[in-house]
Amino acid sequence: MTDTFTGWAATAKGEPLVQMELKLRTWDEDCVDIDITHCGICASDIYTIDEGWGPTDYPCVAGHEIVGIVTRVGKRVKKIQVGDRVGVGPECDSCRECGACKDGFENVCEKFATTTYNSKWPNGDKTYGGYANKWRGDYRWVFKVPNNMSNKDAACFFCAGITTYAPLKHGDVNEKSVVGVLGIGGLGHIAILFAKAMGATVIGMSHSDKKRDYADDLGCDGYINTEVVEDMVKYKHKLTHILCTGTGKDFEWEPYLELLHVNGKFMNVFIPGWKFPQIDPFTLIINQVSISGTAVGSPAEMQEMINFAAEREIKPWINKYKMSDINKAIADFRAGLPKFRFVLENE
Ligand SMILES: [Zn+2]
Ligand SMILES: [Zn+2]
Repeated sequence: MTDTFTGWAATAKGEPLVQMELKLRTWDEDCVDIDITHCGICASDIYTIDEGWGPTDYPCVAGHEIVGIVTRVGKRVKKIQVGDRVGVGPECDSCRECGACKDGFENVCEKFATTTYNSKWPNGDKTYGGYANKWRGDYRWVFKVPNNMSNKDAACFFCAGITTYAPLKHGDVNEKSVVGVLGIGGLGHIAILFAKAMGATVIGMSHSDKKRDYADDLGCDGYINTEVVEDMVKYKHKLTHILCTGTGKDFEWEPYLELLHVNGKFMNVFIPGWKFPQIDPFTLIINQVSISGTAVGSPAEMQEMINFAAEREIKPWINKYKMSDINKAIADFRAGLPKFRFVLENE
């Protein structure tokens, strides 16, 4: 048994990733070992590599859309067996004792859930993500990939999938809903597919016409170019929900909240490196709208989400790269190549 793995690590801001041998976390009987087959690339990985959200503890192995095959399980592990195909998302542990954890929202643990990289396990070991050949961690945050879903397709559900599924679910999206999906990229395209699968009418929203054809192909029932006044007027008070997966620095609340039907919900999952503008309380009150946020999802929601995606045969749009071409993949990601999520594959 080996206690090391080979990862593609960031060693400093702006430097290419380099392959290095690092220590897996200390084994305990709640652990599972995974041979990684695939890992998605998420904007959060790039923010962390670049210290865009704060200091990074280098060397940092990013990647939190991890899929692979279980090679070892501890004595206390439940539900997961050697040989299972499984995935891991952006969080991998929580305190299990606080109010949020006890209520089944371990993802927003009051003591801060352990993130899959650039964080520490409760035992003090560093967490390392999926740009690697192996991963070791607590079974409570490891989820089974359904039989009819490939590892390649599964990867991006573990962050992009749960990040968009959870708000749609919390917002009670159903066949009566009219959901505007703001930002059509890695997150937004999966949001569209999930909202359609939940029966909603879905309107793609972007700041140009560049994504209009993609929105059509994804099954959108309409499209708003947010720069075009006629588009915004046409949908005034027509949307029951807006799911914000991305927007520009010139964002203002009023034009978007005016798109909402009475009691509408603006659900945000976007964390830019800048602050949203202030809001005039009158804007909220006049139409009884609300603004909410979600942070990925709980372990229970994770398994529910991946099962739902498999049942409805939801297929993400992905670009596949060899793990060894990771620096090329990240360069393409930074260049904003669309369509839509990037997945690394170990040979
Ligand atoms: Zn992510
Ligand atoms: Zn907790």
